[in-house]
Formats: sequence, structure tokens, C-alpha cells
Amino acid sequence: MKINVDRERCVGAGQCVLAAAAVFEQNPEDGLVELLLPEPSQDLHAAVTEAELICPSGAIELQS
Ligand code: SF4
Repeated sequence: MKINVDRERCVGAGQCVLAAAAVFEQNPEDGLVELLLPEPSQDLHAAVTEAELICPSGAIELQS
């Protein structure tokens, strides 16, 4: 799995961080998403998929 995030689309809702804190964080300056692990290990895939589903702006893109 590879993750792309689009900071132009992100609205800083933080849902991704709640779902997968090991993979996503919010920039302390602007509140927008920062990607910590672009290629997360298998044990994180379910949480990342959840983050992609609940992101309100469609800013998270997953490639299998
Ligand atoms: S859930 Fe989506 S909109 Fe919210 S911080 Fe994460 S990427 Fe941005």
C-alpha cells in the first residue's frame, strides 16, 4: 500500500489522525495533514483504509 495526501484539498479536520496516528499528523502551523509513513506496514492498512473513508475532503489517496 502507498499513500498520497493532497494538502491543497485537506481541510484540517483531523479524522485521519484519529484513525491512524502512526501514519498521519496535523502540521502544528497550519493544521493540515502531514504524512508520516507513505508506505505503512500491513498491520496499519485497516486503520489507513478507515482514514481514507472518513476523510471529509477526499485528500487521502491509496494505491494497493
Ligand atoms: S481527515 Fe482529511 S481533511 Fe482531515 S486532516 Fe486528514 S487529510 Fe485533512
